[in-house]
Amino acid sequence: MGEFELIRRYFFPIAEAGNTSAIRLGPGDDCAIQRIEPGMDLVFSVDTLVEGVHFPRQYDPEKLGWRSLAVAASDLAAMGADPVCFTLALTLPDADPDWLSAYARGLAKAARNFGLSLAGGDTTRGPLTLSLQVHGTVPKGQAIQRSGAQSGDYVCVSGTLGEAGAALDHLGSDSPGPDVQAVLARYHFPEPRLALGAALRGRATAAVDVSDGLVADLGHILEASGVAANIDTDRLPLSEHLKRLAGEAAIGLALNAGDDYELCVTLSPQVWADLPRAVRSQLTVIGKVVAGEGLTIERNGYTESLPAGGYDHFRN
Ligand SMILES: [Mg+2]
Repeated sequence: MGEFELIRRYFFPIAEAGNTSAIRLGPGDDCAIQRIEPGMDLVFSVDTLVEGVHFPRQYDPEKLGWRSLAVAASDLAAMGADPVCFTLALTLPDADPDWLSAYARGLAKAARNFGLSLAGGDTTRGPLTLSLQVHGTVPKGQAIQRSGAQSGDYVCVSGTLGEAGAALDHLGSDSPGPDVQAVLARYHFPEPRLALGAALRGRATAAVDVSDGLVADLGHILEASGVAANIDTDRLPLSEHLKRLAGEAAIGLALNAGDDYELCVTLSPQVWADLPRAVRSQLTVIGKVVAGEGLTIERNGYTESLPAGGYDHFRN
């Protein structure tokens, strides 16, 4: 079977994975066509993953299929966008049918879970690299941007933090125990918070997905919004798995490790009080937005201040 036949067989079915009513033309022509309903904005983003940089060498292709779409879809969640479709540019060292079918299997599972249809793609020969462009929509003007945080807002995060970071030490583990299995699942199968992001439209003043670590990603909100924040490490949501595995290091992982793909959002205390229970239960208040610049972290009764621009370099 030629390369084109392989692609057609493994990837074209993913064109049916999501809500296809907006896709006027799927894969197979020069371009795909997406219809944007009146009153809607198109929200789109591209993510590139390079073997050995963004995922380990010899990484399981089925896991890579899930993970590559999940990390791209997480940016839609951060904007509060409803997912529609995606394109895939695959650079492959060779057209290995086993690799392609396993990758497509993981990708299809993720595409169905997230409601994203494959609209088109491209393959070339070279070192293993994947670029996925995701498209979503929001009612006009309602995308949640990084620049809207206001002094007095709460800083909230979804889910729990630090587990994907803890998994990095265990990727080669042969017989992982239950705690290691749990953190490995967070690394291999991130769950973009699409429904939560959409529910926060018109409510959150700013949002970002936690891909590089809470401090770095919250730092993007603070810089874009021209504000400062205080966070309290006692309030960081940590899973029991992480606490047992990492002990004292859990807080550092929750602050600095990436790959969790949770949302970090700001919203006013009034909006917080009025949130539907099902939305509020997915979030934890970890601090407050204040006037000024920089991030102050309270930990065991002492505080550490990071100046604006210092968020990327915070390590402990
Ligand atoms: Mg992002």
